[in-house]
Amino acid sequence: MLGIQNFFSYPLEDLKQYLVGLGKEKFRAQQLYKWVYEKRVQDIDSMTNLSKNFREDLKQILSFDLPKPKQVLDSVDGTRKFLFESEGLTFETVLIPANDRLTICLSSEVGCNMACRFCYTGKQKLRRRLSTAEIVGQFVVASDSLKNESRRITNIVFMGMGEPLDNSDNVFNAIDIITNEFGYNLSRRKITVSTSGLVPQMPRIWESRVRLAVSLNASNDEIRDYVMPINKRYPLKDLLAACKEYTQQTKDRVTFEYVLLKGVTDRNEDAVRLNQLLKHIPCKINLIPFNEHPGTEFHRPSDESIERFHQKMMSYGYQTIVRKTMGRDIYAACGQLTSVYEGRPERMSL
Ligand code: SF4
Repeated sequence: MLGIQNFFSYPLEDLKQYLVGLGKEKFRAQQLYKWVYEKRVQDIDSMTNLSKNFREDLKQILSFDLPKPKQVLDSVDGTRKFLFESEGLTFETVLIPANDRLTICLSSEVGCNMACRFCYTGKQKLRRRLSTAEIVGQFVVASDSLKNESRRITNIVFMGMGEPLDNSDNVFNAIDIITNEFGYNLSRRKITVSTSGLVPQMPRIWESRVRLAVSLNASNDEIRDYVMPINKRYPLKDLLAACKEYTQQTKDRVTFEYVLLKGVTDRNEDAVRLNQLLKHIPCKINLIPFNEHPGTEFHRPSDESIERFHQKMMSYGYQTIVRKTMGRDIYAACGQLTSVYEGRPERMSL
C-alpha cells in the first residue's frame, strides 16, 4: 500500500494502473480525469456519478492537494504573477496575455543550478526540483483563477524558475497530464520547453512532440561560457548540433532566445557572429532586452541599440522579434522570478 497519493501526479495510464492495483476498475481513472480537469471539480463528494462506496474509498487513496497561492500580483499591463507555497518552499508562475493568446509560464524547480549570470533565479542555488503535482498544480490554480473571466490558457512555456530538462521526468509527466484528451486537452504544439542547453536531455523534447526554445544569449563560446556556465559542459557546437537534429526530427523551427546585455551581447560584432552560427538552422529569434533585478552586473541596452540589433538580424533574413517586456513592475518578466526571501522587493517603479 502506497498511502494516499496526490491525484495531480498521475498521468492517465499510471492512474489506471494505480487504481487497478488497488482492486478498482480501470475506467474510474478516466471518470476522475473528467471531473477534475474538464469539470474542475476537486471535491470527491460532488463527483455524483461515482458510487458512494467508491467515493469513500477514494478518500483513503487519493488527495487533491494543490500548491497554495500565497500572493497573486497583477501588473499594470495585465500580467498576473502567482507566488506559490508548497512544503515550505516558494516559487512563481506567470500568466501573460497577448492579443488572442494567454500564455502560462511554468516553473520546474525552486532555484536553479545553471547559474546564468543574467538571471535572478540563477542567483539562488537549486533548493528542490518540483514534483509533477506541483507543476500541474500551477496550471490548475492559474486556470481556476480565470473561472469568472472569459479567457482561458492557450499556451504553455516552461521558462519560469529552473532548467526544465534538469527535472525532465516530472516536466514531461506534467505535459502528458495537461495534454491528455480527458484532461485539459491542450495541443502539444502549444507547449514550448526552453533549455539553457542540457544537450543529453534534449531528445526528450522532440520525442514528446513539444516545441523547443533555446536560451542562447551569446554569439561565441567565450561570451557564453561567461554568461551561461553550462556552456563549459556543452559548448555551442554540441548545442547547435542538437538544435539541428530537432529541426530534422520535427520539421519545426527552433526558437532562439537571446538576451540583449549592454556592451556584452548587443554589439554589431555579436550580430555578425550570431548570423554565422545560426544560418544553417531553421529558426526564429526572440530578442529579450535585459530586465534588471537587484544586485545585477548587467544593464539594459538603449532602445536605439535594441532596434539596431533587431534590424541587423532581420536584414540577414531571420524572423526576429523583440520580446515585449511584460510584468516588469511586479518582477514577473523574463529572468526576474525568484522565491521569497527577506528583503525581496515586490514591485519596481518603472
Ligand atoms: S535562465 Fe533558466 S537555466 Fe539559467 S539560471 Fe535562470 S532559471 Fe536557470
